[in-house]
Amino acid sequence: MAAFDLIVRGGTVATGADVMTCDVGVKDGRIAGLGLDLGAADTVVDARHKLVLPGGIDSHVHIAQPSGPDIVQSDDFESGTRSAVFGGNTTVIPFCLQERGQGLRQAIKDYHAKADGQCYTDYGFHLIISDPTPTVLGQELPAAIGDGYSSFKVFMTYEGLALTDEEILKVMTVAKDTGALVMVHAENYDIIRYLTAKLESEGKIAPQFHATSRPIPAEREATHRACTLAEIADVPLVIVHVSNGEAIEEIQRARARGVKVLAETCPQYLMLTAKDLEGLNMEGAKYVCSPPPRDKPSQDACWAGIQRGIFDFYSSDHCPFRYNDERGKLVPKGRTSFRWVPNGIPGVETRLPILFSEGVMKKRIDLSHFVRITATNHAKAYGLYPRKGSIAIGADADIAIWDPTITRTIRHADLHDGSDYTPYEGIAVTGWPVTTIVRGRVVVQDGVLTAEKGTGSFLKRGKSAFVPE
Ligand code: MN
Ligand code: MN
Repeated sequence: MAAFDLIVRGGTVATGADVMTCDVGVKDGRIAGLGLDLGAADTVVDARHKLVLPGGIDSHVHIAQPSGPDIVQSDDFESGTRSAVFGGNTTVIPFCLQERGQGLRQAIKDYHAKADGQCYTDYGFHLIISDPTPTVLGQELPAAIGDGYSSFKVFMTYEGLALTDEEILKVMTVAKDTGALVMVHAENYDIIRYLTAKLESEGKIAPQFHATSRPIPAEREATHRACTLAEIADVPLVIVHVSNGEAIEEIQRARARGVKVLAETCPQYLMLTAKDLEGLNMEGAKYVCSPPPRDKPSQDACWAGIQRGIFDFYSSDHCPFRYNDERGKLVPKGRTSFRWVPNGIPGVETRLPILFSEGVMKKRIDLSHFVRITATNHAKAYGLYPRKGSIAIGADADIAIWDPTITRTIRHADLHDGSDYTPYEGIAVTGWPVTTIVRGRVVVQDGVLTAEKGTGSFLKRGKSAFVPE
């Protein structure tokens, strides 16, 4: 009997720390050997002249999330995780949204009903706390954390989601007591409401004014406030989707005061600008997301933030809607203002190729840096390490094999999500993940789907490596 079920042969293996040329041996879904010639196995995948990387972990995706009346997201868990796996990901952590008035237990049950048996990648859930009642704070949230939902997100903006500072402090206190990690969407709600009404009263209702209504100072102020609240509550926090240099400065200032701030940026802040929202008719709606894409100096600041190690995470914030659809970006008839355009863009499949091409191939970052901000750090922060996020003995055999010589132009027609466009249409990239292995199972081989939905399992997550004992 062969020592291994599967061997990935002769590739250049990279982890968050090291690069080596070797075979990777897999037994019972886990990595069981790294060596120069591991011999025979039932299945051998030839990785010569290719890169063998830990499967991507996308810790910021929205799948099948309720998005307001008459609006539907364009991915269910099957299409969302299929798109993820074609983009070299092996784990995603979508959000489980507690709707106002709903208990957390029910929200979790609803998401499992949507996801279980449908996924190609492994998956966990962050909880979105929109209604921090005494029952939620005192009973449901601590119980959920014990059940493996060890991180949650709070919003400082959005109708139906925004919490007051006092509520955020109460949620952070639960995190402090239970060892959970808090993620914050940092934008100033009152500024956005004020500017939205002002723009509408001036007849400025096209999608481009979405960006005008959520300017950099609104994000900068909320970033400062989120860090201050975490300082008062004495907890680490994650500032998600940072879009510009002024917000980065606030994060650095808070870190200098001793606040444990983790920071995330996303492809849209490296590749898009507010100009993209200026398309004719509703074309700009394709790029409406929050925070909005900014300008060239902001892109440069985000790249510098990646290069200087300020960003712990690079995630997609995949939040897909169809464009040519009145339940998506074209919005139901009669809703004429940008305020009704659903916020969010697809990106789970293009996240890694964009950073690989623009970051690694253009020598802004090295391969290990790429691995850290696309996989290892996500596993560590969200309680999945050392099971996930590296190629190491005993870890789950979650592997993406990349061909660094492939050049292609991103076309939505070639992607696998449920939307009808990509904001990155026409962008040329070098390097693409060709084969994806989830817990030892080849799910995509040379660009062809080779597994059934349901291959992915729910991950009960432990405590964040960044939360103190
Ligand atoms: Mn957000
Ligand atoms: Mn998001």
